[in-house]
Amino acid sequence: MQIDLITIFPDFFRGPLDYGIVRRAREAGLAEIALHDLRAFAHDRHHTVDDRPFGGGEGMVLKPEPLFECIEAMNLAPREVRVARGCSQSVVLLSAQGQRFDQSVAHDLSALERVVFICGRYEGVDERVAAHLADRELSIGDYVLSGGELGAAVIVDCVTRLIPGAVGNAASTRQESFTVSRAARSDGPDSTCSSGGLLDYPHYTRPADFRGLQVPEVLASGNHDEIRRWRRERALEKTLRNRPDLIEQIELSEEDRKLLAHIQAKDS
Ligand code: SAH
Repeated sequence: MQIDLITIFPDFFRGPLDYGIVRRAREAGLAEIALHDLRAFAHDRHHTVDDRPFGGGEGMVLKPEPLFECIEAMNLAPREVRVARGCSQSVVLLSAQGQRFDQSVAHDLSALERVVFICGRYEGVDERVAAHLADRELSIGDYVLSGGELGAAVIVDCVTRLIPGAVGNAASTRQESFTVSRAARSDGPDSTCSSGGLLDYPHYTRPADFRGLQVPEVLASGNHDEIRRWRRERALEKTLRNRPDLIEQIELSEEDRKLLAHIQAKDS
């Protein structure tokens, strides 16, 4: 997968993309990440990339010309082709006004061959970029950052670890929080260990006794069915407590309903 980052601060990405899974994916050639300095596409003496807003108001706005020139130099498919279903390229504008980025968007992006990220700054980006250059606007959450770089780093991290081969054990990315497996979409979670759209179940490692805090006994029991049920119940419990909105969105199995009834009976 080829990833391009357009930014006025290329050095910002030193660090976020140089560790762990993302670093290994780059070294293994699974993800190739290129940085593009927007100022290189501004032709005046001061390499100006921003200007005052039409209509007045606070702050500065990123100008369209350098962004259009930068993207045009990449030889991508035209925008009309990119917005069509099945195209393997996308140009993403990071924006607080964008569609909310989540694990399912991450899965969609990880299937593409090339994704370009435009990082905004100041008050934002001339709207002609969203309307005629980018093919989608993504937000990483309902809050305002000072620039798109952190958002792009978050998305690149999430997407890169989903590229087949990036994580040693492929099953591990299927069991995580939020992940609805393909099988689960049709007939409920395929195993109670996969999240099926819930938050992940709690994990423990050695020592079994840490300052008197014990690891739950069932995990050492070797009884796989009981472990599976215990994990599912804890995942339901945590989701109910921290993210009740997720419970409403997923299809619960008969066993899930029983486990939920058990949790609610315990709490009351
Ligand atoms: N005036 C804008 C905020 C501009 S912040 C507004 O009120 O919506 C400057 C830049 O930071 C944006 O152009 C965008 O690229 C980035 N940014 C800010 N918040 C973001 C978010 N939640 N997700 C992704 N990018 C964000």
